[in-house]
Amino acid sequence: MFITSSKNEIFNHSKKVKSQGKKVSLVPTMGALHQGHLELIKTAQQHSDEVIASIFINPTQFSANEDFNTYPKSLERDLELLNKTGCNAVFTPTEQEIYPNGKPEAKNIVPAEIANILCGNSRPHFFHGVWIVVSRLFEATEPNIAIFGEKDYQQLFAIKYMTRLKKLGIEIIGAPIIRESDGLAMSSRNAYLNEAEREIAPLLHKELKKISSNLKENTNYKQLIKNSKDYLLENGFDNIDYLEIRDSNNLEELNEYRDSARIFAAAFLGKTRLIDNIGTN
Ligand code: AMP
Repeated sequence: MFITSSKNEIFNHSKKVKSQGKKVSLVPTMGALHQGHLELIKTAQQHSDEVIASIFINPTQFSANEDFNTYPKSLERDLELLNKTGCNAVFTPTEQEIYPNGKPEAKNIVPAEIANILCGNSRPHFFHGVWIVVSRLFEATEPNIAIFGEKDYQQLFAIKYMTRLKKLGIEIIGAPIIRESDGLAMSSRNAYLNEAEREIAPLLHKELKKISSNLKENTNYKQLIKNSKDYLLENGFDNIDYLEIRDSNNLEELNEYRDSARIFAAAFLGKTRLIDNIGTN
């Protein structure tokens, strides 16, 4: 497995592979890898000949009061897991390599209809920061394909939009959410949960499933959502950031059933913010 922190080296590596008529895919991550990340690598392998993973904790997508400094890191273990999974190359840039002229300001880039809803409402910088870093990772690797998890559905949506808008010619593939056996969506941030919180955490997915299975028969969406919010708050969650039903094709809020309906949630357990989403079919 080829490992480099250099933009030039990964660019040349990708160029060389493509010149052999092979397809290159990119799997961007922030490290602290779990099975969810490794499934993205496997999806990438199914769609391309050469898989490049990137590991970079991107400062522009964190605001000052968030967990940039404490975000879990396990580079050695990550490299071992990637190697075992058959990943071909890993790009592990420094902040200087990605932002040689300093960090750009993460605002006024992504259209408000995408950047200000759902996660963007409480994290107004987030999608601008993601847009910036993914642009740079795309420039550094010029992949044919890039894989993103549906766990961060709004992020996947934003990147698909960016790729279309900039006519990058990169195929964006979404991969399904990988969960623990009790339903909790895998996340590097799950490591922040203490034992008691970890027991409560799967209730989020349970409630999403409950809404999903009641959606077709129940037209009173507001009541369905209120019932689930109340249940989560009564059973240990500290705050519900959002719990909303939207159209998975355009992220418009829905008041009536459609096959494309998707339920999105973000909720706090102590200081840990969990996100999840689920389709209705
Ligand atoms: P992160 O390292 O958290 O920035 O995530 C890197 C990529 O892995 C993103 O495309 C995420 O959507 C994806 N990902 C993270 N957790 C999961 C999961 N449980 N299932 C599927 N994809 C995931």
